[in-house]
Amino acid sequence: MPHAAQSPDAPLTSEAESPADTHTELIAFLRNRSAPCPRCGYDLRNIQHPTCPECGEELMLKVGSARPRFGWLVLAMAPGCFSGIAAVFVAVPVVVSWWQMPPGRRAPWPIVAADIFGWMSAAAVVLIYRHRHRLMAWTARRQAAFAGSVWAVHVLMFIALLVGMWLSK
Ligand SMILES: [Zn+2]
Repeated sequence: MPHAAQSPDAPLTSEAESPADTHTELIAFLRNRSAPCPRCGYDLRNIQHPTCPECGEELMLKVGSARPRFGWLVLAMAPGCFSGIAAVFVAVPVVVSWWQMPPGRRAPWPIVAADIFGWMSAAAVVLIYRHRHRLMAWTARRQAAFAGSVWAVHVLMFIALLVGMWLSK
């Protein structure tokens, strides 16, 4: 017999709650207690099955946060979402101009640089989203500092774009 099957971790996994256990806990929780269905608002008091009798929504009992705070995370992702979308639209005329136009009529370099920055900013949004749980574990102060620096970089890049456009005239 392979040794791994007898590993000390095995009993732990078998002790994990089965769906039947969580259904029993849900029904016990709603015994003589009112709670609205999260989908249709129907009072689920004394239901006998883990589904809403009114709309048929499958129900589960779970732990929620009293004050979920996504504010700083959303604020940190906002500039990148905006510049990412803008970068996609700006990329089309930039690529066309460099591909087909003579050197004098190509998109100016500050626009090209700003477009590259926009794509990098969109990539940063993807990274922030992928590490969102780690960011949410930070203190509010650290999240605020992070969101603030993301905004500062974008404002500085915008000013640099304006100055660059002015210089390249
Ligand atoms: Zn319902």
